[in-house]
Amino acid sequence: MKIVDVKTYSAVYPVKQPFSNAMRTTRERAFGIVEITTDSGITGWGEGATLPARRAIDTHVIGRSPFDNEVIWEALHYQGTDTAAISAIDIALWDIMGKALNQPICNLLGGAFRTRVQAYATGLFRRNVPDHTAALVAEARGYADQGFKAMKMKVGFGPDYDIKNVAAVRRAIGEDILFAVDANCGYDRGSAIAVGQRLAENNLLWFEEPISADDVEGYIEIRRALKMRISGAEQLRGRWAFRRMIQEGALDIIQPDICVCGGFTEYRKIAAMASANHVRVIPHMFGTAIRLAATLHLLAAAPDSPRAHEPFPALLEYDMSENALRTQLAKESITHTDGVVAVPQGPGLGIEINRDVLKQYS
Ligand SMILES: [Mg+2]
Repeated sequence: MKIVDVKTYSAVYPVKQPFSNAMRTTRERAFGIVEITTDSGITGWGEGATLPARRAIDTHVIGRSPFDNEVIWEALHYQGTDTAAISAIDIALWDIMGKALNQPICNLLGGAFRTRVQAYATGLFRRNVPDHTAALVAEARGYADQGFKAMKMKVGFGPDYDIKNVAAVRRAIGEDILFAVDANCGYDRGSAIAVGQRLAENNLLWFEEPISADDVEGYIEIRRALKMRISGAEQLRGRWAFRRMIQEGALDIIQPDICVCGGFTEYRKIAAMASANHVRVIPHMFGTAIRLAATLHLLAAAPDSPRAHEPFPALLEYDMSENALRTQLAKESITHTDGVVAVPQGPGLGIEINRDVLKQYS
């Protein structure tokens, strides 16, 4: 089987009600999507935070076998292609390999430890509303009413906002729901420690990206100072970026994003390095239906660590923000029931792309 064509799409979904994290206000969601066609008629789909250049595709992808995923990865990397763009190609190759073998990708990754994954609701952004606290409490209660047993809120807006609103949401949802916070790199080391000490009073699951994504020494300092799990690394690209973070014990939890870190091929290497160093892996997910399906296969194929009677759950980040490319790009939408999501069982990614939706937003 040979790759005969690679199409790239820049997909943009305009957000109707903008929302903010500590660093930016989101008015549109932009994604790179690739479609790889083979001479056997099998087509694979991938997503990346960026897209590869035409010349890189023509030189290193066209004419190769889709089973050459490692060879293609290394060739694109050494040619200088951004790792996020390699992710898009790599995910599409795994989609093709699964379809060619008539197996879901999780079976190619070593088999499914689970067919359903507990999700946590990612939302609770800052919105342009008169009463932030009332809006956050209502939104959090809504997620609990939908059956979510875990959720994550955005912080990093300064001590006043963070301390008041995290406490209000924790009171509203009670103690039985897993509750994480995410500062999206909005603090420096000192502020992260000062605010984190107050936030830790709310029994938090983790404190995500308190500081700059690659500040290894800073994360080590914060992790020693705070009595809660510290997570991060959703922006890191490739195994070398993760190496010091993992080996120096800078994070309790790494959160690689399959569309940023280098696709399935690179994620496996990062996850193996984390496992050898007793660092937990909970993937980041904030994208289209392609990224959602790919992330579910990663979570299906991830062993519990440790293998306890009541293991720390393999958690899917379930983005609750408005995005038609997540909810409509796959013909059969990937939804949750009582906060639990089923892993697609069809071959490859297990989704069928709705070309009308892709065309509408490309
Ligand atoms: Mg995050």
